Amino acid sequence: MKDHRMNTLAENFATYFGQTPDACFAAPGRVNLIGEHTDYNEGYVLPFAIDRLAMIGVKIHDGKAERRLRIASTHGGPVIEVQLHGLSPASVEPWARYVAGVFWALELRGHRLPGADILLDSNVPIGAGLSSSAAIECAVALGLNELLELGLERDELVLICQRAENDFVGAPTGILDQSASLLSTTEHALFLDCRTKETEQIQLPLAANGLTVLVIDTKVSHSHDSGGYKELVRACTQGAQELGVVALRDVGTNRLEEAQRALVPDIYRRVKHIVTENQRVLDTVALLRTHGPAAIGDLLVASHASMRDDFGISCDELDLAVTTSMAAGAIGARMTGGGFGGSAIALLEASRTEEISVAVCEAFDAAGYLRPDIFSVIPGAGARRLS
Ligand code: ADP
Ligand code: MG
Repeated sequence: MKDHRMNTLAENFATYFGQTPDACFAAPGRVNLIGEHTDYNEGYVLPFAIDRLAMIGVKIHDGKAERRLRIASTHGGPVIEVQLHGLSPASVEPWARYVAGVFWALELRGHRLPGADILLDSNVPIGAGLSSSAAIECAVALGLNELLELGLERDELVLICQRAENDFVGAPTGILDQSASLLSTTEHALFLDCRTKETEQIQLPLAANGLTVLVIDTKVSHSHDSGGYKELVRACTQGAQELGVVALRDVGTNRLEEAQRALVPDIYRRVKHIVTENQRVLDTVALLRTHGPAAIGDLLVASHASMRDDFGISCDELDLAVTTSMAAGAIGARMTGGGFGGSAIALLEASRTEEISVAVCEAFDAAGYLRPDIFSVIPGAGARRLS
């Protein structure tokens, strides 16, 4: 399957650019198993890379040629052409900023880059909360690092990609998505401490335990550069300031009563989610180590309730996906990603996939919602060279 997609990518590349790519690279989207909005509060997250990939073909231009990028997506639209000299977001189509932004961030770090042709072919659903955006950035960053022999470590590429997304695309996100895409390994979740940037691979043997994770894409659209996300970041920053800590990571669950007395209700609710969610990530890691994935269902459900009731980032469609899959026999379920739409995940016995998928579709039909896209994901490998 991968080879077939890669061959098609190379053929399409020739159609778009009239030549063959130097190499092809792939970077995965991700599911966040637990730990939502904890990343920019210097807390813990536990994502895993999925078997949905952004693939790119790359042809580096002659160093003496004009420094020009040509960027295209098999998703459609014309080839975007942009000069590297004086590169700014305003000069690039919004979607192509995820590619051009990586060039921009690398140049900002002092790497003078040649021009290039890049064709993107991604099967990470767009705007579903599975990080189609970081998948693009990470494929580009890995490709440039390898082809131009920039000598950057993967954890440095994470920061380059985050810079591209924050300052070129304009989405104020943490390092969760890029870390998952670049640092994940097969059959593991990535336990990431967003303060120290330390990572640890945590075994997530789903198939061996007869389990699967279903993604339920509600198709309700969300956007990270919308006001809602910025407002949440602001609320968390204010909460930390008023509690006298550097970041909410520094507040333990034993300080929640004090926080409730000190903060106005709206800020307290946000703080409570972050503080309890950090603890749930630690508890999930501990349970995975001792009891395996079948044991983490209650924590997933508690995480969803916290996002719905305290953080205020769920929506009716996500709540219905969670309650219906639980009622139909899932082990655990929660919304995943930034919120305001996107996807929910459900952890279940693989043998119940059909039953639970049908139940969710029927519930969505009955509620008059769009038919969700439902598919299984497996914890896959991080970004890699394909050829
Ligand atoms: P998410 O990362 O959750 O999928 P984002 O809003 O962060 O959502 O990123 C989605 C954006 O990434 C799209 O609006 C588009 O600009 C870009 N994108 C993702 N995949 C593709 C693709 N295959 N072709 C073109 N642009 C894409
Ligand atoms: Mg994104």
